[in-house]
Amino acid sequence: RRDLSRSNAQFRRAVQRLPLGVSSTFRYWGEDRTIYLAEGKGGRIRDIDGNHYVDYRLGYGPAILGYADNRVDAAARRGMEVGGVFALSTERELAVADRIAKMVPSAELVRFSNSGTEAVMGALRLARAYTGRESYLLVEGGYHGLFDAAMWQADVEGWDAGSNADPEVVPYGKGIPPTVRKLAHLVPMNDMQRLEDTFRRHGDQLAAMLIEPIQGNCCAISARAEYVQLARKLCDQYGVLLIIDEVKTGFRVAKGGVQSLLGVRPDISTFAKAMGNGYPIAVITGRADVMRCFRCGGASHGGTYTAHSVSLAAAEACLRILDETPALATLADYGARLKTGVSSILDARGIVHSYTGHDSMFGLFFAAEPPDNYRAWKTSDYSFYDQMAYFLHDLGVICEPDSREPWFMCEAHGLDPACLTDTLKAV
Ligand code: PMP
Repeated sequence: RRDLSRSNAQFRRAVQRLPLGVSSTFRYWGEDRTIYLAEGKGGRIRDIDGNHYVDYRLGYGPAILGYADNRVDAAARRGMEVGGVFALSTERELAVADRIAKMVPSAELVRFSNSGTEAVMGALRLARAYTGRESYLLVEGGYHGLFDAAMWQADVEGWDAGSNADPEVVPYGKGIPPTVRKLAHLVPMNDMQRLEDTFRRHGDQLAAMLIEPIQGNCCAISARAEYVQLARKLCDQYGVLLIIDEVKTGFRVAKGGVQSLLGVRPDISTFAKAMGNGYPIAVITGRADVMRCFRCGGASHGGTYTAHSVSLAAAEACLRILDETPALATLADYGARLKTGVSSILDARGIVHSYTGHDSMFGLFFAAEPPDNYRAWKTSDYSFYDQMAYFLHDLGVICEPDSREPWFMCEAHGLDPACLTDTLKAV
């Protein structure tokens, strides 16, 4: 077991000043296991006790090239010299928007934002402004950010999986008003019949259907192409806007996002994380006629820090690398090799397993078939995975402990042959 004595001591001090001793509740792993970091470089991190880890969390996805990437950081430093924020626009906004439009076919117009939450909030407002409707459809298991409208989930605890009744819809914790619930409808991922039924009942009141095609907070449970294609068809039929949330998948799974692999063109999509290699930046993008609702007297949107000169310069450099070099192929190839290596070890021990997602972000399940929706995942037993995750931490490999998040790959993993050997040794 690795020594975490400095982290433990830091936790005891930090908890006096920071709730749970951290700045995001998901970083709290218990009194003895909460880790404080000294630094990250490439595909690895080092904690304040001096433990080194190969990191497959990558900040929940942003570090697509790796931590402290010199090419992006040099650009960010130049962005710093420009001056930060002005409440006025700069030329670089158009350059980055042009790059996004080149990479993502559905990105006709682009509006910058700071975080995934802000982008999805803006996207939903835009859809409401365009359609004049208030309700919206969410897919169970998706995560779209911190705002009240997005924080509803199926409660599968105590739910009878054999019954035909849907689980109750509950908020992601306290402080989210039940009145907001009236506007949210939820459907289980990949259930075509339920989707059609829901559109038949509520379609003419929906402003938008929001879908995360590979559910990053649900261990990469993935939408089948025919499910998203049906969603596209139903949205067209009922005048509903399809919002594909690519905050986690965008500029990672493919240059044009998962949407380009599914062959579906959304009306609006949201991107963040990988576009800035860790610098805070996001976009709302989509159909020109829809996006033009961001206008005076239309859908309100702004933000003091939007198109911050540092984030914008970082995004310009990062997107250029993702577009013009084999970085995405390098990291996907690494993910494929990692899966092959892990599988051969597990197979040799007769351990049944399967994967979800994509080579660039995959979930590992100890079952012959991975779950294809949140209900199946949440009612399965993933205690073996959790145990394995904690053993791996002790052996120098970090993955998300509670089978929530997939394993994320970065270019630096692929460029450092020891990442693979170190990981397989631990497994
Ligand atoms: N949408 C998706 C698909 C996400 O994965 C996340 C973050 N995990 C968000 C929205 C919210 O992004 P942020 O944390 O940057 O607010």
